[in-house]
Amino acid sequence: MSDWLAELRAHLADHEAHATRRRLPREGGDELVDLASNDYLRLARHPRIARAARDAIDTCGTGSGASRLLAPPQTRHERAERSFADLKHASAGLLFPTGYMANLAVLRTLPRPGDLICSDKLNHASLIDAAAMSEAEHRVFPHSGLDKLDRLLARHRGRATSAPGERRARRWIVTDAVFSMDGDVAHLPALARIAGERDALLVVDEAHATGVLGPTGAGLAEAEGLAHHVDVTVSTASKALGVLGGVVTAAEPVIETLVNDARPFMYTTAPPPSQAAAIAEAIAVVRAEPWRRERVLALAARLRAALAEQGWTIPVTARTTPIVPVVVGESERALALSRSLARSGLRVPAVRPPTVARGSARLRISLHAELSDELLDRLIAAFADLAKTDTP
Ligand code: PMP
Repeated sequence: MSDWLAELRAHLADHEAHATRRRLPREGGDELVDLASNDYLRLARHPRIARAARDAIDTCGTGSGASRLLAPPQTRHERAERSFADLKHASAGLLFPTGYMANLAVLRTLPRPGDLICSDKLNHASLIDAAAMSEAEHRVFPHSGLDKLDRLLARHRGRATSAPGERRARRWIVTDAVFSMDGDVAHLPALARIAGERDALLVVDEAHATGVLGPTGAGLAEAEGLAHHVDVTVSTASKALGVLGGVVTAAEPVIETLVNDARPFMYTTAPPPSQAAAIAEAIAVVRAEPWRRERVLALAARLRAALAEQGWTIPVTARTTPIVPVVVGESERALALSRSLARSGLRVPAVRPPTVARGSARLRISLHAELSDELLDRLIAAFADLAKTDTP
């Protein structure tokens, strides 16, 4: 036992030495201006949503008590699923405790042995873990590397067997809509075209786009006019919706399959009714207050332009998102810059390997709708000061 604890301590010390352990700078504590959270619309403290959660607790208590398959009919869960499906222009939805679990459910359940899953190299860890758990073959294509993706799909087509009575092997393209560490968007029109040409199914994780992109806040697919070209959409309520919970939206038979076969749905306790009630209310707020998404995207566009003008390296994107990363290279440099910003009262986390590739450590700024113009000016001025003293 003590031997094992010593081994763990050595492992943790090694983490520290390589600066991979993610710790926020401590200076200033909670007084810092939050430029780190994914609460892009600032709904996590919205009075309407908080009230909906409280009312549900008063009526139903704090826990759901069992898996959805065992619990009595859960009207609040069904309402949240209906609201999500409507928002996403889909016919049905299914709620999971988190987005991570929703991704595990989709890729562990839907692709079958003999299938091929092709996923973007920068996809979120939950998609990578989910693909690893799948019984299908899993290949990774370079970030937005459409030619490589096309070749992988073409090769698999040749190997697909479809003897009489045998299940047809299928191809799956899996992508984030918004890549959370680069703040860029997937080339959805090209992915949808390739999916069509190669007879592949398209799975899109709209975690960071839900509530933020598209005319009604449905996400990237809506923004691109491609909602009906995506076969399975995974979203989370944990970011712009300010709550918690993953939701899969798709055609009815897909959702029914997940209800009956997805272990992360069947063998876990249903989210509490208050969580479901808060999600449904958050969607109502997304619809009622479009100024929130307009505001956060306008702030992000201004920040991107100002930092690029100062000479910082910002990954390019076809669409502005609330995430503005500043790539600085080595972990030590990212940490030093993050600490300097903390001394100016700004919480901007340094993101380092293994979350991002070696040599591409960065400051990850995530903006929110209630940030004032004055605070954005302060952030831009702080970077201008850093640009004078910082040496790569
Ligand atoms: N997908 C992406 C792209 C994410 O960024 C995240 C969370 N960081 C998830 C899925 C998981 O969502 P949740 O936090 O709801 O588990």
